[in-house]
Amino acid sequence: MASADLGIPRLEELPFEQGQRVLARIDLNVPLEDGAVADDLRITTALPTLEWLRQHDAAVIVAGHLDRPKGRPDPHYSMAPVARRLGELLGVEIPVTPRVVGAAVEPFVASLDAGEVLMLENLRFDPGETADDPAFATNLCELADAYVNEAFGASHRAHASIVGPPEILPSAGGRLLFVEVAMLSRLLQGTEHPFVAVLGGAKVSDKLGVIDSLLQRCDAILVGGAMMFTFLLAQGRGVGESLVEPEMVEECRRLLDTGRVRIPTDVVVAAEVADDAEARVVAADVMPVDLKGLDIGPETAEAFAAEIGGAALLLWNGPMGVFEVAPFAAGTRAVAKAVAACPGFTVVGGGDSAAAVRRFGLAAEIDHVSTGGGASLEFIEKGDLPGLEALRESRRARS
Ligand code: ADP
Ligand code: MG
Repeated sequence: MASADLGIPRLEELPFEQGQRVLARIDLNVPLEDGAVADDLRITTALPTLEWLRQHDAAVIVAGHLDRPKGRPDPHYSMAPVARRLGELLGVEIPVTPRVVGAAVEPFVASLDAGEVLMLENLRFDPGETADDPAFATNLCELADAYVNEAFGASHRAHASIVGPPEILPSAGGRLLFVEVAMLSRLLQGTEHPFVAVLGGAKVSDKLGVIDSLLQRCDAILVGGAMMFTFLLAQGRGVGESLVEPEMVEECRRLLDTGRVRIPTDVVVAAEVADDAEARVVAADVMPVDLKGLDIGPETAEAFAAEIGGAALLLWNGPMGVFEVAPFAAGTRAVAKAVAACPGFTVVGGGDSAAAVRRFGLAAEIDHVSTGGGASLEFIEKGDLPGLEALRESRRARS
């Protein structure tokens, strides 16, 4: 690999003028509850970049997406609650445009002064965003003089607002984007050993690419979550009513043959996922046929914790069980505690795993909790993302 920052231009390299309009693409895809932002981590982590732009007298046009509206305006997915929260954090009023681009937006942009902030309506209200339509990218760029990508968590998608602007405007990566790249690059290089990866979550098929890539550098991969059952199936075990992906069994067998993939020896089973479910622990090789496996068992949690404790480099992605429901949270909590206590360099990636770490109040004890779910995994797998590549190319085109 070339350099640690992948050749991405920095904010300081933007050709700045007083009142310059900067289109700031931010990862604002936050959870909402009752019309308000329920978790503002993605907003707060973008503040250093926004503050920097305002201090440099930029007029800031914030653009982001929320959820998956179907390419047309839908008040249910309006950016208004996000603008309200960002406005509170910055101590300014942030208007939201009635449309994403076009004539209805122009007066908002024209009246935007240096240091002020405006938010465009949900980018995905326009079908051009996810279709990577160059005409939509051009319309976005007409609003601004420069572009900043502070949306690491969306940079694995070749969407118009991510890959389009760097071809058109002077562009740079935001502060958090650089932090993500620097932290995750340490896992990519994987030169510190033992390098241990803990993987869980719902599907093996989602994570096969990253498992393969990690096996080139990891000393051990500890598998929990629903995906452990496809591995158990690959060993010829019965898994009862647990979630499995039968078409992945061959792949799992190949991964087990490396001798570096560890799977649970005991499992928490129940008839259903419920707060009052009767959960019990069974050995992984004798799972009852009529029950579902919903967490790793205590013996496995202890073995995993011991291996995590000895790691020099550690990646955790994917909960060990259905941690959202109390009887199945113990395995995820035990792993989270072990990761927090690990003296090595620790990274948590993945939306649900990051949520688990925050719920257990352990985020501060982890070296890096990535804000990018799918993006962080794809970066660890491939060492690059479409959005990062676009920024790099933008520098090349301008030098
Ligand atoms: P992340 O977002 O951290 O990458 P995933 O999205 O892959 O994680 O998976 C998270 C989901 O996996 C959680 O909602 C959790 O409830 C679910 N899960 C974990 N273990 C099991 C299991 N044994 N059975 C069913 N679902 C599970
Ligand atoms: Mg998830």
